[in-house]
Amino acid sequence: MSGARAEKVIDEPLAVLERHFGHRAFLDGQEQVIEQIMSGKDGLVVMPTGGGKSLCYQLPALCFRGVTLVVSPLIALMKDQVDALVEKGIPATLINSSVPWEEQRARLDGMRTGEWKLVYVAPERFRADSFIRALEGVEVSLFAVDEAHCLSQWGHDFRPDYMRLGRSLEAIGRPQCVALTATATPMVRADILGVLALKDPFEVVSGFSRPNLSLTITAVDKVAQKFERLREIVAAHKTGIVYCATRKKVDLVSETLASWGVKVIAYHGGMSDAERAEAQDVFLARKADVAVATNAFGMGIDRSDVRFVAHFEVPGSIEAYYQEAGRAGRDGEASVCELLFNFADTRTQEFFIDGANPGGQTIRDIYRFLLDEADDDYEVHRSIDDIADGVGVRNGMAVGSALSTLARAGYIERFDIPGKRMRGTRIKRPEVSAMGLELDDRALEEKDARDREKLKAMVELCYARACRQQWILEYFGEKGASTCGTCDVCLDDHGDDREPTTQEDLIVRKALSGVARMSRKTSAGWSGKFGRGKIVQMLTGSRSQEILAAGLDQLTTYGILKAQGTGYVNSLFRSMLEAGLLRVETGEYPLMTLTDRGARVMAGKGNYRLRWPSTDGGGTPVELEDRGFDPQLYSALKDVRNRLAKAQSVPAYVIFNNRTLEGFARFQPVTAADALKVPGVGEAKVERYARPFLDCIADFRRSLPK
Ligand code: ADP
Ligand code: ZN
Repeated sequence: MSGARAEKVIDEPLAVLERHFGHRAFLDGQEQVIEQIMSGKDGLVVMPTGGGKSLCYQLPALCFRGVTLVVSPLIALMKDQVDALVEKGIPATLINSSVPWEEQRARLDGMRTGEWKLVYVAPERFRADSFIRALEGVEVSLFAVDEAHCLSQWGHDFRPDYMRLGRSLEAIGRPQCVALTATATPMVRADILGVLALKDPFEVVSGFSRPNLSLTITAVDKVAQKFERLREIVAAHKTGIVYCATRKKVDLVSETLASWGVKVIAYHGGMSDAERAEAQDVFLARKADVAVATNAFGMGIDRSDVRFVAHFEVPGSIEAYYQEAGRAGRDGEASVCELLFNFADTRTQEFFIDGANPGGQTIRDIYRFLLDEADDDYEVHRSIDDIADGVGVRNGMAVGSALSTLARAGYIERFDIPGKRMRGTRIKRPEVSAMGLELDDRALEEKDARDREKLKAMVELCYARACRQQWILEYFGEKGASTCGTCDVCLDDHGDDREPTTQEDLIVRKALSGVARMSRKTSAGWSGKFGRGKIVQMLTGSRSQEILAAGLDQLTTYGILKAQGTGYVNSLFRSMLEAGLLRVETGEYPLMTLTDRGARVMAGKGNYRLRWPSTDGGGTPVELEDRGFDPQLYSALKDVRNRLAKAQSVPAYVIFNNRTLEGFARFQPVTAADALKVPGVGEAKVERYARPFLDCIADFRRSLPK
């Protein structure tokens, strides 16, 4: 223990956890974070909502001498947090604009005299030099920035006041600082580290894995195929959400589901507030089984028994995809997520990206139009569509985005026109000409590029043949994620059917005894009490809320297969089910229990064979197999090349030479990564050209008799 730490630390975390918070143990990731904070380091913590982030700074706050400042953006949340702490007997308070200055002074004095351990501060307080000066002489042991993604211009919730926090930190003498958020992609993480200038920070990304979800991405060509697949999903899983990219699609899909007799609601941004509220209520009250919705649906959706989430089109980013997919299985039970992928749908997303990023030129054109159209009060009463027509912009979304940019920069404001649905625009600085607008063109371009990168990452996930969950966790920066054992790729990767080794037999019997603990024994045999999701989480020692709340961490079998990992255990359960050691009772929930055979094996009295899951981490790309030369495919590939060459006005060999085409025909790569293994194919060309060739190969393979 360093001298500085010894001086600062006045209590031990585990003792404080019990005494003040009444918890017996840490949730996933908490211990690691708290250890790092206790050692005096700056850091960045990314955990999903509900993952227990607050404890990560509240607990050290109580162990440290001095006071912990918490910056948090929402006044209402701040008050809830402080109330909850006070209820636990923890000296905490808040300072924001709702508190009169006199009282703020008193609270600041209290910080100096050691009256408070935790003080929540609204970010805009740091605007005032007087506030920063008032902090002089206060011993700030820790500076926690909650919802830290707010300081990234690329996040979804940028707050300019957060940008100032780096300077404020300096001004108050650079106390130890930790940033926390639930959403941080690599770009946002880099922004957080940069703006706060964290020193040699630790980074913990934890808790994003959802072992009870099976993620599947199915390639489809036609809308009819999507409906076929959707019909199977709804029949098999009953309750769920179908996400569509556009309002029109929501209408089409919900009407189709209704025509099948499914109880369904539709939800999208084109409906009135009242219509949307009603649809949401119907779904939450379980009077409908399926919600068909755009991404406008989800905030505050708290229906825990959602058994499937289907994506009718590819979403715009992995973040959006995983957030939407994650609305399945909130009760911890096994649930499925299936994305119906057609590359052509990425055009819809590109259209959205165009709309969200109008570019400096378009914004200036729109501003010029507003200046021309303004009346004597500098007001413009024109609808978005009108403005789009007037300027000659085809994507109406772009006008909305441009107006938001202009409003944020203080050049215009938008106001409601009484009695009309349309809003008006007021020019606030009419002396500024279109050319005089100060826009950060570089930032606009960068945002555009980042949005496109996100879409690209999403498409890569669709084409990849690696464990879906592992891929996503790595994208979010979670280190050491293992394969899930339940996604389409993992399931493709079965081992052989054979008898167990002694070691494997032991694992199977442990798994079966876990199932027994979570079943009921009746005179007629075993009957189920829980689904696979919770049983697997119990066996692998999950510290998730659903497991702790149900007291499943108290079972003697809790965590006995932790070493094997959820991926392996999930696969093992599938195999045991196939082998007839387990069965699923269908009712409102699919409940898992032992078969008689399973009970015998558990007692060490039965022989069995299983398809053993692989333990090698799965998803490792296999070497390409030479499938022989097919002249028909070769000629189809040549046609693709000639079309491309013509379209791009380059000689055919510039795209790929004949030898490379032969390689494509022989090895028939499926993904861009596979294509890279074909002799003579480099990364640049794969990026630029491979897609139509891969599509051609896929078409060819589909046309083969099975
Ligand atoms: P976040 O801020 O990450 O959204 P919270 O800090 O609000 O999450 O915590 C979510 C829930 O988990 C809260 O109800 C909290 O009481 C509970 N919780 C936090 N830590 C523990 C723990 N170690 N054991 C049990 N429950 C915990
Ligand atoms: Zn997987």
